[in-house]
Amino acid sequence: SKKRDGKNGAQLYDPQLQDHTRQRAEIEHDIEEGLANDWFDAFFQPIVEIQSGRVMGYEALMRLVHPQRGILAPAPLIAVAEENGAITRLGGQVLEKALANLARLSEATGDQDLYLAVNFSPLQFDPSLPVRLAALTTEYGIAPRRIVIEITEATLLHDNPQILTILDEFNRFGYRLALDDFGTGYSSLSYLNRFPVDIVKIDQSFIRALADENPELRHKSRMLVEGITAISHKMECTVVAEGIETDEQRQILADFGVDYGQGYLFARPQAVTTLMADASMQLARSRKVSAG
Ligand code: C2E
Ligand code: MG
Ligand code: MG
Ligand code: MG
Repeated sequence: SKKRDGKNGAQLYDPQLQDHTRQRAEIEHDIEEGLANDWFDAFFQPIVEIQSGRVMGYEALMRLVHPQRGILAPAPLIAVAEENGAITRLGGQVLEKALANLARLSEATGDQDLYLAVNFSPLQFDPSLPVRLAALTTEYGIAPRRIVIEITEATLLHDNPQILTILDEFNRFGYRLALDDFGTGYSSLSYLNRFPVDIVKIDQSFIRALADENPELRHKSRMLVEGITAISHKMECTVVAEGIETDEQRQILADFGVDYGQGYLFARPQAVTTLMADASMQLARSRKVSAG
């Protein structure tokens, strides 16, 4: 067409670009609508002790529960929210949901030890964050040691001179710190040295490769996972493996001494109302058993 020949026309009429722009506008709309209508929720995925299968805690994972379109995954929402600045409001709303859900779950199960890992974007790392989190954990009666702050290399690399101060303050308040997607960054090991890390989460790409059909890849990734685990233990960190889908993977990780695991093999992320219904059913079942 004529317009395609124009200097900027080709870009304006590029159907792919148009698709991209439209898609972004739709996601921005979803975010605002979700925030206004309280559609965002924190789903919980169990984190289990590899050896025993016992649930030690949960990771809170953002979901948009849309009345027509169902449950929407977080990655595109977070990417757009980080671009347009909505991440502060979005992160704040999901954080509050996560803590409220943990309080309800603890109340329902009587378990006051389970921990909760919450993901944070670099842009949420504002100097006021530790105090705001402290206000929330106090409000919901949650001990700070039960909260794990999950960050990735993106946060540690972010051009923010206050990161270390904020992390130290979290540490002083008693919150724990986890390095998420460990091993995929540029200089993962150096972070163990420079930041007060409590938990290392080995990225799921390594876990997937443990049982790869390519024997060389399989061998190398096993050596890497075993090595990361040994180093992390020497640094007095707990090791969590992400994305465990098969019992073969679980067995290998158990042999390497990995502490905790998370993945579809154990459970998918679920609404906390579902978890609570399961917990009360199990309780009812065990009561029946003990009643004979
Ligand atoms: P992540 O923190 O590394 O979370 C783990 C992701 O792996 C989750 O994807 C989870 O559903 C998925 N997963 C768990 N087990 C398995 C498995 O066995 N197989 C496979 N294939 N996947 C598994 P999800 O929920 O889509 O979240 C994607 C990412 O979005 C998260 O990665 C995290 O970086 C970010 N995210 C999620 N919730 C929040 C949030 O509340 N705030 C921020 N800032 N980021 C969040
Ligand atoms: Mg995470
Ligand atoms: Mg991860
Ligand atoms: Mg990730």
